[in-house]
Amino acid sequence: MTTLAPWLTHSLQQVQRLKHTGKLSHALLITGADGVGQEPLAREMVKDLMCEETQGPACDHCHSCQLMKGESHPDFRMLDGESGTIKVDQIRLLVKQISQKPQVGRNKVVLITHAQAMNINAANAVLKALEEPADRTYFVLTSSQSSPLLPTIRSRCLLVNVPTPTMHEVTAWLQTQQNGERLSNLFWLTTQPFRLLLLQQQGKTELYAELPEKVNALLQQSASVSDLVKGVDSKNIEDYCNGLGAILHQCICHSTGAQLDKALDGIYHTLIARQGIESLMLRYQSLQKLKSDLQKTNLNPIMQLTHELNQW
Ligand SMILES: [Zn+2]
Repeated sequence: MTTLAPWLTHSLQQVQRLKHTGKLSHALLITGADGVGQEPLAREMVKDLMCEETQGPACDHCHSCQLMKGESHPDFRMLDGESGTIKVDQIRLLVKQISQKPQVGRNKVVLITHAQAMNINAANAVLKALEEPADRTYFVLTSSQSSPLLPTIRSRCLLVNVPTPTMHEVTAWLQTQQNGERLSNLFWLTTQPFRLLLLQQQGKTELYAELPEKVNALLQQSASVSDLVKGVDSKNIEDYCNGLGAILHQCICHSTGAQLDKALDGIYHTLIARQGIESLMLRYQSLQKLKSDLQKTNLNPIMQLTHELNQW
């Protein structure tokens, strides 16, 4: 059995109760701040819906549960918008595939994670499917509050709002994860637990963990800008921009009274003495611009980043 993060269990139980009483909507939209766990929650809900037992959580034993475990259930379809735009053809194919009666269990389920990645035509195709629900078919969508879905889709769905966990909850939960201790050193970057796990899966923990120290060395003039940009290439420059942006953002917020992560203590005092708050804001904007321009081929991004850091 998978253990669900504690702040997700209440939402899961609510949906289980609705399923048990036969009052569950055929469309669910799981939303919340970025990285709070919409996707693992959705996957648990899908398991429950696919299970042949009508009551409570997935039994883990029935034929449907076994097929879900083997990722080979013919009545389950999934699209993930994390890796790019979801297009209308993908939705049409999926709707066609599930338009038949369930082959194995009681229900058919479509899961669309990061559904905000649907383009407008794809979103309209989903809307159409929601307006004419096929028998015993459920749609489970996830999205984040920072990039909401079409209001017409939202209004067709039962909204499941994932609460943002407290720092205490995140810290305690990270202790139960592999290398969780190291991840909690990255709170200056983000406190969203599943974003931290994703960084680990992508092998980016070290890049971020080293950044405050490198910036500090630059500010203390024990390292040069070219030392700092030494490991930067076209694949990781966006991560450097994210990290540097987060450092500036934290310093700006701290100057207005927000708490500062201890990893940025030295950086804050040097930066604020050298730059002042207005200039820090300019540096932040300039870094955001650099990040959004990264796809433009006529730029040499590493040269741009070097130019930017020369002004720190
Ligand atoms: Zn089952």
